[in-house]
Formats: sequence, structure tokens, C-alpha cells
Amino acid sequence: MARIAYVNGRYVPHREAGVSIDDRGLQFGDAVYEVCEVRDGALIDLPLHLDRLEHSLGALGMAMPMPRGSLVAVLKQVALRNKVHYGHLYWQISRGVARRDHGFPKGAASTLIVTGYPGNLAKYEANAAAGVACVTHPDERWARVDIKTTGLLPNVLAKQAARTAGAYEAILVRPDGTVSEGSSTSVWIITQDGTLVTRPPGPEILPGITGAVLRRVAAREGCSVEERPFTVEEAKSAREVFLTSAGNTVMPVVRIDDAIIANGAPGSIATRLRTAYHAYVHRTALQ
Ligand code: PMP
Repeated sequence: MARIAYVNGRYVPHREAGVSIDDRGLQFGDAVYEVCEVRDGALIDLPLHLDRLEHSLGALGMAMPMPRGSLVAVLKQVALRNKVHYGHLYWQISRGVARRDHGFPKGAASTLIVTGYPGNLAKYEANAAAGVACVTHPDERWARVDIKTTGLLPNVLAKQAARTAGAYEAILVRPDGTVSEGSSTSVWIITQDGTLVTRPPGPEILPGITGAVLRRVAAREGCSVEERPFTVEEAKSAREVFLTSAGNTVMPVVRIDDAIIANGAPGSIATRLRTAYHAYVHRTALQ
């Protein structure tokens, strides 16, 4: 099946889709993006992803390229045309095309790209059933990672360090020894008394949408959530550790560096929350 991408008002074959070499996304990483999960054809947590997109755009002095309702229609079309039943949608907005100059161009129209990726549900379920390994890595990013920009080089290097070590994700560690987040995930621990702990939103982490929804799910499941920084040492000796993201929903972690988490199998609370999250978002999803 030929894949279809959306670029600035046109649906085009994916392999023919392109933007100008003067696009500021390419030249400067002057672009923001979002990723949402598609499950049973439904766009998961979409309103919250659009809220975060508006936050990112606003922080960079950029405007929505089209009204929210029109963008939703494009996203649904891309999911439909690529037959994404289970998978992900990616959309990116750059400040547009202009002669290379660091300052903002005057009057450039933004560039909007949307792509859809069918996913491998069996592989993803197998990862969750086994749990994943993580390595720790220094957090070397800039001071405003709450803005979801395409400038992801430190995240790329951290993820590659994890892969080279045979691990699934890199857990980023700040100079004070606390965990900020994963290279493309939010990090959670569960204390011995069953409390979920994750870092509070701030400029040093991306406000994860999956995590925001999981807070609601956890409350319904009777789990308490504490927002505070935690150290790598605390994570290594936690009762459970898990990651959240649109790509992973709730993914149990069974190893950090050389430390095995609990008995080395996915924990019962994370596993229960994963099931509860899927049931909750399915009920509230945009079909
Ligand atoms: N942190 C980072 C650095 C990420 O790239 C992501 C994935 N977008 C997340 C956290 C999780 O965010 P979400 O739950 O919205 O996918």
C-alpha cells in the first residue's frame, strides 16, 4: 500500500513528499511537533496533544497553521489514507521557508507536515509483557524542554547510547542526581507503599500527555500520585518503575543499568494501570 503524507495543503505519496532546503525546521530545528497514538482507528488523547502543540507554538511566537478543527480533519485523513488502525500520527509545524538568517523571517507561511505510521501491536505487547531495560545518561539538553521542538539531538544521542548498550530507553539524569525523564518518555517510580512518583511539570521536562491522563486513571484506580523529583538510586530500589509516552502508553521497566527492579518482572501495579489506561482512553477517544 502506498503511504500518503500531508504537506502544506496536499496529500502526496510519502516518498515524493518534501519541503524546501530553506525550511527553518531543517536549517535551525525551528519547528515543533506532536505524536499521538492511533488505536482501533481512534486518535488517542488528541485534544491534550493539541493543547500542548498550542503551548509549544505560543512559546516560540508561532501561530497554529490552520484552525484546530481543520487540523483534526487533516490528521484523521492521514490516519485513514494510511490505514493506520494501530500506530501513530506525527505532525510538525516549522516557521516556514526563508533565506537563512537566525532572526524570525517576516511574512513566511509556516510549513505543516503530517505522516502516519502503522505500528506493530504484537511487538509492543511483547515488550510490555517482558518489561524493558534502561540505562542512565546525563541530561545534556537546553533549559526549555517543555517546548516540544524538533531540536532533539541530545535525545537522539541518549537513545543511541541505550541501544548500543542493548537497552530500550535512556533515563536522563540531571547534575544533581535526580531523574528528569527518558529520552522520549516520562519516567515514573512506585514506592514500597504503592505511591506513584513522577517529576512535577517544569521547564526541565516535557509535560507528557500519557502521564497527564494516567494521573486521572490512577485516581480512579485508587492509587495516589506524588509529584516530586527522585534520584537514580531511589528508582533502582523502587517497588516498580515504568515509562509513559504516546508510543509506549505504560511500559514496565525491569532493569536500570545493572540494577534489577524488584524481581525483574513487570510489576503488578504498572500492569494494572496499563490495562486501565487503554480502557479509559478508548472510551474517551476521538473516532
Ligand atoms: N518526554 C519526552 C522527552 C518525550 O519525547 C515524550 C514523547 N513525546 C514524552 C516525555 C512523553 O510524552 P507523551 O506522553 O505526550 O507522548
